[in-house]
Amino acid sequence: ILQLYQPLNFFGTYYRMIQSNFVDMEKMLALFKYDQTVKDASDAKELVVSHGAVTFEDVSFSYDSRQPALRNISFTIPKGATVALVGPSGGGKSTILRLLFRFYDVQSGRILVDGQDIRSVTQLSLRRNIGVVPQDTVLFNDTILYNIRYGDVHATDAMVYKAAKAAQIHDRVLGFPDGYDTRVGERGLRLSGGEKQRVAIARTILKNPPIILLDEATSALDTTTERQIQYALAEMTQDRTTLVVAHRLSTIVNADLILCIQDGQVVEMGTHEELIRIAMENGGEGVYYEMWEKQLREESKNVVDADSAIEQ
Ligand code: ATP
Repeated sequence: ILQLYQPLNFFGTYYRMIQSNFVDMEKMLALFKYDQTVKDASDAKELVVSHGAVTFEDVSFSYDSRQPALRNISFTIPKGATVALVGPSGGGKSTILRLLFRFYDVQSGRILVDGQDIRSVTQLSLRRNIGVVPQDTVLFNDTILYNIRYGDVHATDAMVYKAAKAAQIHDRVLGFPDGYDTRVGERGLRLSGGEKQRVAIARTILKNPPIILLDEATSALDTTTERQIQYALAEMTQDRTTLVVAHRLSTIVNADLILCIQDGQVVEMGTHEELIRIAMENGGEGVYYEMWEKQLREESKNVVDADSAIEQ
């Protein structure tokens, strides 16, 4: 109980502090969840984002020196493109997102945003330019309006509604007992996983960052929710450089580049068509190909399960 209580208490203190200050949810989550291992360089500059291009240059990293988590990772995401990270559990996908957000510093190699090494810029300026949509979104015990406006505390009501519309959650909110004034969170209306993720998407659209880190929900969604999430994600990621830990086939198939990560290494890289074609030429062999076939089978089963659950 104590262990649970202390972070909550800390959360509350920080929450009150930021209400009157600059809001940076990611910074708060960073403090909340992780030890701060990274410090600004004494001559750290502001990150200047012109395009939002991201480059990993021969990046290696380990949480524990006995076991590398990432080895010699290199890739570039041009402005506005979407890169999908796929691969088995524990392969290193989330670690790639954490390194770009600079929860940790790389042990060798470099990560560049528009040519600037992220170790040479202030963490605040880096994180201001990055939107994070986690699998599980934290909702405050406050109104839905407050929860969405959290992405930009200076946004007007009209701007909040616009973001909510783009995130496919506006109509749903209007259906709540008190509309945008409905209290949500632990002590209010409990939103479903799909609704919470759309709130997170609305927040991010409001924040309007050039770079997005997205951890897609793994849970099965019914087809209507799935479609709404897809529209919302399309709105959010359009013209923004996106790095997504991808579980949904639609996201993976439409990505500009797929990185197949296994045991901390990029084992295959290409578009969906390229990776499938190469595997076919190899007699149906390939890490991505096999994973895709498996996901296809699971996804069709899940959709059937979810739909029949709704009908019941
Ligand atoms: P999943 O799909 O299950 O989320 P992943 O591909 O995102 O997995 P990571 O979370 O990046 O994988 O983990 C890569 C490796 O690093 C794993 O072996 C994991 O056990 C290890 N690891 C992750 N986080 C930490 C941490 N905070 N401390 C120590 N080791 C960690």
